[in-house]
Amino acid sequence: MSQKICTNCERSFDTKGFEPFCSKRCADVDLHHWMQGSYVIPGSGLDVEENAPSFTSSQDDER
Ligand SMILES: [Zn+2]
Repeated sequence: MSQKICTNCERSFDTKGFEPFCSKRCADVDLHHWMQGSYVIPGSGLDVEENAPSFTSSQDDER
């Protein structure tokens, strides 16, 4: 009676061990997204922005 919704594929499931995911696969996929997102964290990107501010805007003009 305790159906949960998988955070990744949004299907209902009733398995234990991988909450809030339905399976290890979905848990892995979400972890992957999380790691990819956290590696673009602002802070290390500050240096890059200082180096090429006009570069990005000129690219925008061409579009
Ligand atoms: Zn799932």
